[in-house]
Amino acid sequence: MTFDIVTIFPAMIEGALAVGVVGRAIERGSLAVTVHDLRQFTSDRHHVVDDVPYGGGPGMVMKPEPWFRALDAITERGPERPHVVLTSPQGRRFTQAVAKELSVRRHLVMLCGRYEGIDERVRTRVDDELSIGDYVLSGGELPALVIVDAVARLLPGVVGDEQSVVEESFTRGLLDFPHYTRPAELSGPASGRPDGSGAAGGGGGAATDATLKVPSVLLSGNHAAIRRWRKRQALARTLERRPDLLASAVLDEEEREILRELVAHEGTTGTTEA
Ligand code: SAM
Repeated sequence: MTFDIVTIFPAMIEGALAVGVVGRAIERGSLAVTVHDLRQFTSDRHHVVDDVPYGGGPGMVMKPEPWFRALDAITERGPERPHVVLTSPQGRRFTQAVAKELSVRRHLVMLCGRYEGIDERVRTRVDDELSIGDYVLSGGELPALVIVDAVARLLPGVVGDEQSVVEESFTRGLLDFPHYTRPAELSGPASGRPDGSGAAGGGGGAATDATLKVPSVLLSGNHAAIRRWRKRQALARTLERRPDLLASAVLDEEEREILRELVAHEGTTGTTEA
């Protein structure tokens, strides 16, 4: 997949894309990202990209011509017309489902606004307007990075173990189960508190046990029990933190049965704690 990102702050994008999973994918050639400096598409000596708003009011508006020139230059490189995404707090909400939808595209162009935003006429060249949440950022660079990262993770060969992408939060409409690594027990200062007291089980509950232990089922070697425990944890977390997701979650028979148990348990105890 190819991404072209247009911004007045290329360094902000380039630095972030040079590291981690996405950085390695670019190095390996699984992903091609070109960052364009919008100022290169200006025609004046000072490379001005903004101007005062018609009708008055605060702030500056990004001039349309550099955006049109940038889009022409990117599109001319062909072979197909790219899918053009404008980052905007007014766009449709970017979710895992939208990331999946974008991941089948071959060529995405991301436009990063600044100031009060981009002259409205540029929208005539935009296929999709995406918001990463109901808040206003100073520019579209962070949203573009968020979108590139989430989409890139879904491409074959980008994340080392593709199963981890399948199991991640939101992929099937559920939050992920809790993860643990060695050591199996933490005590003393390593448990996060000078006196060694802390919340056992990593669940953020009340502090009762001085030793933080990994749930014993994960050490049991019983793969069927581990699989069921993880399903139960993922369902309990989703029920507790994001019950809205359950309406459209894709559950198998075992998960539906666990969910019924959790809901019944919640009805009697007022908690989904499994
Ligand atoms: N005047 C605009 C408004 O109220 O809708 C806000 C402009 S914002 C300060 C500048 C740029 O940041 C936008 O053009 C957009 O590219 C980006 N941006 C800010 N918040 C965003 C969000 N939540 N999602 C996506 N892009 C965002």
